[in-house]
Amino acid sequence: MRIEVAKIEQRPLRGYFRIQDHVMDPGSNDSFTVKDCVIEYELYRISEAEVMLKLHYEGSCQFACTTCLEAYESRVDESFSVLFTSNPEEAEGVVTLEGKDGFVQLLTGDVIDLEQQVLDTMRLNVPMAHQCRPDCRGICPNCGKNLNEGDCNCVVEMMDPRWKDLELFLNKKE
Ligand SMILES: [Zn+2]
Ligand SMILES: [Zn+2]
Repeated sequence: MRIEVAKIEQRPLRGYFRIQDHVMDPGSNDSFTVKDCVIEYELYRISEAEVMLKLHYEGSCQFACTTCLEAYESRVDESFSVLFTSNPEEAEGVVTLEGKDGFVQLLTGDVIDLEQQVLDTMRLNVPMAHQCRPDCRGICPNCGKNLNEGDCNCVVEMMDPRWKDLELFLNKKE
């Protein structure tokens, strides 16, 4: 979804579009899939040099659990705004925008790529560690079994090495 900057007027331009099955950063550790998201946008001109973009996205993304590595889907729902300016000095300054997630971007080129704006924001908002569920037990470091599906038989091997010494000591005594 690309909008020509020259066509943005003071009267807000509103619409929506969809992103489906988009794989983010394929091959990287941070990769995730935008399964199905609907994006609402509003664009309007503030001045000759400034354009305001407001976006709201809502839908589902698929992540790999950091703890057990299984894929799971999670809801995403976010609003943010971007003030585009063709004035480089303004783009460097800190500007407070209405709404908590506003930021300023230097306007380069003749178009604003709305899809790219959404994807960039999603990438920023994804937590570093994401879990399929709050109490995910992860995988056994010894046999690799997903412990959410049940216990494995590695309890003895995973015993604290200090207990091993005690065990040897007690065995000697006998
Ligand atoms: Zn998990
Ligand atoms: Zn195990």
